[in-house]
Amino acid sequence: MINLKDVDEDIRKIEGIAKQLKNVDLLQAVLDLKSRILDLHDDILSFAAEAQELKKKIEDKAVYNLVFDNNVYWNKLPGQKTDGPFCSVCRDRDGKLVRMLSSNLDAQGHYSPQYICPVCKNAVKR
Ligand SMILES: [Zn+2]
Repeated sequence: MINLKDVDEDIRKIEGIAKQLKNVDLLQAVLDLKSRILDLHDDILSFAAEAQELKKKIEDKAVYNLVFDNNVYWNKLPGQKTDGPFCSVCRDRDGKLVRMLSSNLDAQGHYSPQYICPVCKNAVKR
């Protein structure tokens, strides 16, 4: 990656020379170049962040193939046992995969087979 400190040093040297030469056009050209380099550096940082995000998505895709079914997510990878269920609220709101727990009772203690999210308490009938 471009080292801004080195570039800044180089530009300062050229700026110094332009000042010694009292060449206003050269000085202005150096300042324009400096500004363009800073813009390029911002672009590089932005592309790097985007690349990191895409890399994570690709890695997630290899590990997860989430299918929304009966109000919960299931991880269905070819040739593997279906894993889950996972909470749709936590996944959709926070991007987190939270395994739901199986329970035969609702919050009032009545018989009601359901899956419950241990994080957000989302309850879904089994
Ligand atoms: Zn949840």
